[in-house]
Amino acid sequence: MTAPFSPRNRKVRVLATLGPASNTPEMIRKLYVAGADAFRINMSHGSHEGHARVIAAIRELEKELGRAMTILVDLQGPKLRVGRFAGGSVMLETGKPFLLDRDKAPGDENRVNLPHPEIFEALEPGTRLLLDDGKLCLRVQSVAKDRIETLVETGGKLSDNKGLNVPDVIVPMAALTEKDRKDLSFALEQGADWIALSFVQRAEDVAEARRLIGGKAALLAKIEKPSAIERLDGILELADAVMVARGDLGVELPPEAVPPLQKRIVESARRLGRPVVVATQMLESMITAPTPTRAEVSDVANAIYDGADAVMLSAESAAGAWPVESVAMMNKIATAVESDPGYAERIHFTETLPDPTTADALAEASGNIAATVSAAAIICFTMSGSTARRVARERPSVPLMTLTPQLSTARRLGLLWGVHAVHTRDVGSFEEMVAKAKRIALRHGMAKAGDRVILMAGVPFGTPGSTNVLHVVRLSGDELKGHR
Ligand code: PGA
Ligand code: MN
Repeated sequence: MTAPFSPRNRKVRVLATLGPASNTPEMIRKLYVAGADAFRINMSHGSHEGHARVIAAIRELEKELGRAMTILVDLQGPKLRVGRFAGGSVMLETGKPFLLDRDKAPGDENRVNLPHPEIFEALEPGTRLLLDDGKLCLRVQSVAKDRIETLVETGGKLSDNKGLNVPDVIVPMAALTEKDRKDLSFALEQGADWIALSFVQRAEDVAEARRLIGGKAALLAKIEKPSAIERLDGILELADAVMVARGDLGVELPPEAVPPLQKRIVESARRLGRPVVVATQMLESMITAPTPTRAEVSDVANAIYDGADAVMLSAESAAGAWPVESVAMMNKIATAVESDPGYAERIHFTETLPDPTTADALAEASGNIAATVSAAAIICFTMSGSTARRVARERPSVPLMTLTPQLSTARRLGLLWGVHAVHTRDVGSFEEMVAKAKRIALRHGMAKAGDRVILMAGVPFGTPGSTNVLHVVRLSGDELKGHR
């Protein structure tokens, strides 16, 4: 993977969900070109065969462009969802009765399947059931072993497999359902780089998923339950990254509770050096319109000002009418925010205290040294990606290039703020590393002749997690000679 390509001229990452509107090789390529850095595959929809085709298409593109691609597979988790409808969707009318039952037959205006036996026992008359991110509301009238009779309190369109939240009741469900376990082994077989865990409630949920993943992928915990907020630090400690999953969070809690929590989660994650993704409804109106509302643009911009690692598109890129335009819009917003002189200042409002280790001390110093000597870039050599994570946490103003012989590391790093990861052959000596870093920096347009760059690495090579060298070098411009 050494073919040249032009790096993104921005730090925040765009995570685009793939779905019926975007899951062909042509569309995936268009989304990438428009600015998508990482792709999300949502196991709540679609089939394994379909997902396998999408993953193969991303890996094809990876080969063609010589650019490590990041795939996040999002497990549905113990999310309650209604079944399917005969016509794909129905209109529920306010004031009319609606039945949830155990009948697998496609639903209509009067009834639909609810494939979660646990819930039939946990509900009582008077309980609110919220559908489709809280857009619709049903009130439970009576509950029997296999039927829940409700009245539609807020009607609207309800389509196949939409989510159902029961904010007033604790539903006893395991962190990973049977479906999640099957989807997880599928995702690992397919070489997913990140696994997203939905409806995490406790650190133990993350620990269990970690055991099952066994290091084959990185783990992102979605924060979308009040109980996860209460245990945020424990979850952050065990997860490789977190997502502010505002869709379900804003259903389980009042919507006005979400912005303060978003700030808190982003800040806590950054403090601990965990990548954080802000997700859901970011450009919601672009599902049907070619331009977003000003408020949506502002929402994306504010997440970037807060220093989130990535902003996510859901239905906008997966099922909307304007997937490419949505990605392009995020790219434009990010570029505008990051060229605001006030951005660099705001992004450092969050204090990141380094651990008392050599690696953290060097990572913290790298940004300052880059500024003092006006270096063009920081270049890290890394096996596991930990050096890159530490440097990215400091949010340096110069480009951050990561060289790694580990393709899986290059792929995982695609979700991190500012990291330009390049998969390359391993080096055997310090001199070789310096020469290679200079060459790749020139080739990738990260620096030009006469520029200084900062190199970071662990010596001796091949020992992970041992960053102990920070080296400042000047490029002569002759580095590419004989290496074309
Ligand atoms: P989902 O997660 O799209 O899988 O529900 C994101 C959210 O809840 O915000
Ligand atoms: Mn969710």
